[in-house]
Amino acid sequence: MIQFQNVSASYPDGTVALKNISFSIKPGVNVAVLGESGSGKSTLFQLLAGLIKPVEGVISLNNERLHYKKKDLHYWRTQFGFVLQNPDMQLFAPSVEEDVMYGLLQQGQTPEEARVKAREALNACGVDHLRHKPPHTLSAGEKKRAAIAGAAAMNPDIFVMDEPEAGLDPVNTSRLTALIHNFHQQNKTVICATHNIDFAYEWADEWLILNEGKLLVYGNSKHFFEKD
Ligand code: ADP
Repeated sequence: MIQFQNVSASYPDGTVALKNISFSIKPGVNVAVLGESGSGKSTLFQLLAGLIKPVEGVISLNNERLHYKKKDLHYWRTQFGFVLQNPDMQLFAPSVEEDVMYGLLQQGQTPEEARVKAREALNACGVDHLRHKPPHTLSAGEKKRAAIAGAAAMNPDIFVMDEPEAGLDPVNTSRLTALIHNFHQQNKTVICATHNIDFAYEWADEWLILNEGKLLVYGNSKHFFEKD
């Protein structure tokens, strides 16, 4: 369970990006994070990644509080799979396969083990046939899926994705939805920032809605968006 208790965050220039935010996300729950540009979504994700420290409040996972010593942060981050808004920021190896293997090798797995797991993840994301290509030659949708494969290969309990559907065509968006359902069946938690209500509607159990750094809604609010 991920818990934010009275969390506030601000930037060095004094901007208060999140104000007294509290919520709990139970394991296996899919959460859509919505809010206008500037409402605090990226700040929330940076807090989850331990990239910034709250000025107030407590962030915890399974009742273990997030500490900011290097070793603690390292362990904390192993429990998350992050998919950044721009996949170019996380695809850097000479080939897609090597990219997905990278994190596994860092964990100390043998190249043989890493290759098997990478192939499984690439397959699940529908990009195994692209494994020998340099990541920069992939289309936007393929890059997104390769980045998701990289996160999935590490088998994290929680996926945090920043607008994963941005720039995807309808076919790739429904593949992504299928993939999220697939994670859900494995009791993984999926947290996605998105601007696309129709996309979120397909998979979200809970809605976390931010407005000007305040938590407007956290809960099962599908009915808000029900048409008629
Ligand atoms: P969102 O992801 O929803 O667009 P952000 O979390 O990026 O929102 O931003 C929340 C607020 O914090 C905004 O007012 C934004 O201008 C401000 N902000 C974001 N990053 C910084 C930064 N590095 N320095 C100062 N202010 C920032």
